[in-house]
Order: sequence, then C-alpha cells, then structure tokens
Amino acid sequence: MQLFKIISLAVITFLSVSFYAHALNDNFQEKRSTHFIIYYKAGVEGDFIDDIIKTAEGYYDEIANNLGYHRYNFWLWDERANIYIFPDRTSYQKETGQPDWSGGCASYRDKKIWTYPHAAGFFDSILPHELGHIIFREFVGFENSNIPLWFEEGIASYQERSKRYASTSMVKEFLSKNKLLSIDELSKVKSPQDIVNNEDAEVFYAEAVSIIYFLINNFDKYRFALLCKSLKENNSLDQALNKTYFDLRDSRELYRQWLNHLNT
Ligand SMILES: [Zn+2]
Repeated sequence: MQLFKIISLAVITFLSVSFYAHALNDNFQEKRSTHFIIYYKAGVEGDFIDDIIKTAEGYYDEIANNLGYHRYNFWLWDERANIYIFPDRTSYQKETGQPDWSGGCASYRDKKIWTYPHAAGFFDSILPHELGHIIFREFVGFENSNIPLWFEEGIASYQERSKRYASTSMVKEFLSKNKLLSIDELSKVKSPQDIVNNEDAEVFYAEAVSIIYFLINNFDKYRFALLCKSLKENNSLDQALNKTYFDLRDSRELYRQWLNHLNT
C-alpha cells in the first residue's frame, strides 16, 4: 500500500498539467488566506475549507522552515497558490480526468492542486508533498532544468513526516540486501516512468528522502538554502554543492558520506 502511494504520488505530479484551464471555468466559490486561495464548489462543507487553509498555511511555514528559506531575505513567495476542492470523488474524476486511485493532483508550475474531501492521504501525504514541490520550485525557478529528479522528489517526500522518519530504516534494509541504487543510477532517472519495477521505485524514493534528510540535518542548516540559491543561479547540483558545502565536492562525495553515515 505504501509503495502504491509512493508511485501514484509521483505519477499524479506529472500527469496533471493539461486540464486546469477547463477546471478553472466552472463556478467555484473562493476563500483566501495569506498564501492560498481555496476554490470550492457547492456541497463542500465550510469547516473543511477552514481546515484546508489552516493545514496548508501550517505546512507552508513548516516546509519553508525545513528548507531554511525563511531565514533569508531572498525568499520570495510571489502569488498565492490555488487549491481546488470538488465536492466528491466522482466530480473530481470527471472534471480532472484522473484515474480511480488518485486522491489529488497538482501542477506545481501553475501552483495549483486539485482534490476532494476525504481523499485518502490528502492531509498527510499529498498536500505536504505537492506543497514541497511548489515551494522548492518557487525558490529555484519553475523553468530550471538542472535539478536531478531524485533531488527534487527527495525534497518533496521529505515534507511527508511518515516518509521522512521511515526512510532511514528502509534504506538500511535495502543496504543489507545489497539493493541500493548508486548515485549514477539515481541521477539517470529523468522521470518516474524511467523506473521499471516497483521495488526500484521504492528504493529510489527512500534513498532520495534519506540523502536529503542527511544533507539538511548533518551540516549547518543555513547551507541548504544557500545550495538552493546556487541552483537558482543555474549551477548544476555538483557545482552548487561545491560552492556551498565546503567538504562536499560533488554529488558522489555527498553519496559517499551519506553511505558512511548509514553505516555508523
Ligand atoms: Zn513528487
């Protein structure tokens, strides 16, 4: 079940761009908060909207804080993100064209998320994961093509507390079975469709989260935001690491130190 969710999250992120214009035109009411506009249809309870606003604003602060963005005056949140709430699963699926298992989808380039009340995993997984993508991309640039997929998915999945805290034991288990992907194998993955079997997908996401966890928590915390700033300036991940983490020359060195850390 967990694996299914991991893969489905990755897929919804990439499937979602084409329908938003259609969904926009369709009689939504709106409610605004500091960083979000919630669009919802008749039939959605008001306290559900209040709950979404409270949770999304909480995640906004937590994610910006996790990534160290709040501490820097170069952090800029340009426009509110939009969350669209359909009254039920049937109307959500009908209007977004998403498959039966999808509890929500997002276009982080457009800072838009679509869902419906009671979607499984929405508050704990989908919302923090997709906001992780949106907040990271707002920071480094939506057009930036220098970011390895494992790095961005690691950042998004790190925002899901359950994935973050499970990642260490998962990668230790994969390590003991000699199943970890090398840094070259991780970096070769350009889209989730490149991952051909379920076990590799599970390994890919667990490693990505664990490496990000290591990078954020085992060095001076302000460096991670500086690393992202360097990525924003169009440096490759290797160049950005070299400029901002004095003892990490490149992603291979990061991987080597992460592996050593796992073994201690
Ligand atoms: Zn993702």
